[in-house]
Amino acid sequence: MTPMDLDRLLKLLRKTYDVQDWWPSESPFEVMVGAILTQQTTWEIVASVLDRLREEGLMDVDQMASVEVSVLESILRPAGFYRQKAKRIKLLASYLVDSHSSDPLSLLDGPTDSVRKELLSLEDIGNETADSILVFAAGRPKFVAAAYSSRVLKRTGVLCSDDYDEIQTFVESNLRGGPRDFRDLYALIVQHSKDICRAVPSCANCPLSRECLHFTGQGRR
Ligand code: SF4
Repeated sequence: MTPMDLDRLLKLLRKTYDVQDWWPSESPFEVMVGAILTQQTTWEIVASVLDRLREEGLMDVDQMASVEVSVLESILRPAGFYRQKAKRIKLLASYLVDSHSSDPLSLLDGPTDSVRKELLSLEDIGNETADSILVFAAGRPKFVAAAYSSRVLKRTGVLCSDDYDEIQTFVESNLRGGPRDFRDLYALIVQHSKDICRAVPSCANCPLSRECLHFTGQGRR
């Protein structure tokens, strides 16, 4: 059997899930804050914390930069690692105020590699957060090579790697399509990982099983 490729994976996942409203947000700054909050927690909790931040008027860059860190920590507490996350968000907001006249779009303007480099230069912003911001706030054709991505790509037989850079380079070199396809592929992988291809996969209920390397027994990863 021919190994599954990225286009086929995207096609099968699109037939199964609808991710059109996968990362609802009202502004690029909200996406940035959400990308920091989403580490180590569920999107449902992130969404409720974002609602609370909105209610408190903190989805404004200047307000966020000036809010007392203790106030922010108490709002972020349900999202876990709230001290780290409050620090990261405050640093980001202060950076936007100082270096981009409080305008997130100014940070996101420019060649993708330059924007990514600038995001990664910020304290505690890693690959996954930077790439999520590039994809979901700036609409760039980047791939978020997070743990979910590695798991699904390995199991289906598309790519056997755990290395972030290798996975990202592979997808960006081989996925045909534009920013929308990159956005959808990652969103669909996350959805599939949460619903069916979990740590212990529910292969009997999986629409990919007939073509999945893990299920067809040609490889077990
Ligand atoms: S068949 Fe199993 S291992 Fe393969 S994608 Fe589906 S759930 Fe994951």
